[in-house]
Amino acid sequence: MAKPLIEIKDVRKVYKVKKGNDVIALNGVNLDINENEFVCVVGPSGCGKTTLLNIIAGLEQYDSGSVKMDGADVIGPGPNRGVIFQQYALFPWMTVKKNIKYGMKFLKKPDGTKYTEEEKEKIAQEYIKQVNLTGFENSYPKELSGGMKQRVAIARGYAVDPEVILMDEPFGALDAQTRAQLQEELLLTWENKRKTVFFITHDVDEAVLLSTKIVIMSARPGQIKEVIDNTNIPYPRTQATKLDPQFEKTRNYVWDTVYKMYLEVRK
Ligand code: ADP
Repeated sequence: MAKPLIEIKDVRKVYKVKKGNDVIALNGVNLDINENEFVCVVGPSGCGKTTLLNIIAGLEQYDSGSVKMDGADVIGPGPNRGVIFQQYALFPWMTVKKNIKYGMKFLKKPDGTKYTEEEKEKIAQEYIKQVNLTGFENSYPKELSGGMKQRVAIARGYAVDPEVILMDEPFGALDAQTRAQLQEELLLTWENKRKTVFFITHDVDEAVLLSTKIVIMSARPGQIKEVIDNTNIPYPRTQATKLDPQFEKTRNYVWDTVYKMYLEVRK
């Protein structure tokens, strides 16, 4: 079997708050992420989801254990990992197209040369089309709805061609209908581009619809409780997939597991 793209072994992370009040955010976390997987992480608030994402992104240090990507230790951020946050983080003074092209400024081809202006334009146009923003190339973020802004952020993340895309509740701020639309678009983009995705959500239905693998985390300290293979729900997936008996079965199982943890915490 091929080696995992990302290997997380026995990771522990403690936030030093005040003497005696340290927060063990992660303890004994082991996880393999394979190429082209769509991994969704669910779990109660405070179980360390964002901490884990930030560690993979190289934005946060860990105290012990190891995190490797392509066999090399993750010691900081790098172009092989792109992060998309809940709050779009677009440059307000740049148009949609300029926002998408911005990251490509630093992008190099496999042979080490830079992309020409024409090539960057072509890539930006491709992603503008992919995320259904044709006609809005020259709009500014303030002229866009929340859903459109998040589409720009997703296009920008994909345009720089990282191996892994890390998303922290990217649809958390959107209304239900827009969220459903963006889920379908993201599924299509994932099926077209086959990138590895690590996606945090607190929405169990979203996790079951999008992922090939579901990671359930528990809190105090943050640990991985269970990893579920979710490839037995057929593709292509759309909102109608929620009617599939396998979807219902998996959703009920994940819900039940998460709910039992909630009851444990309340005790
Ligand atoms: P989640 O994303 O699952 O809600 P987080 O990774 O944000 O969880 O947080 C895990 C735990 O670490 C929580 O108890 C949180 O309060 C704590 N924590 C997160 N960031 C910090 C920080 N910068 N300083 C201190 N404690 C933190």
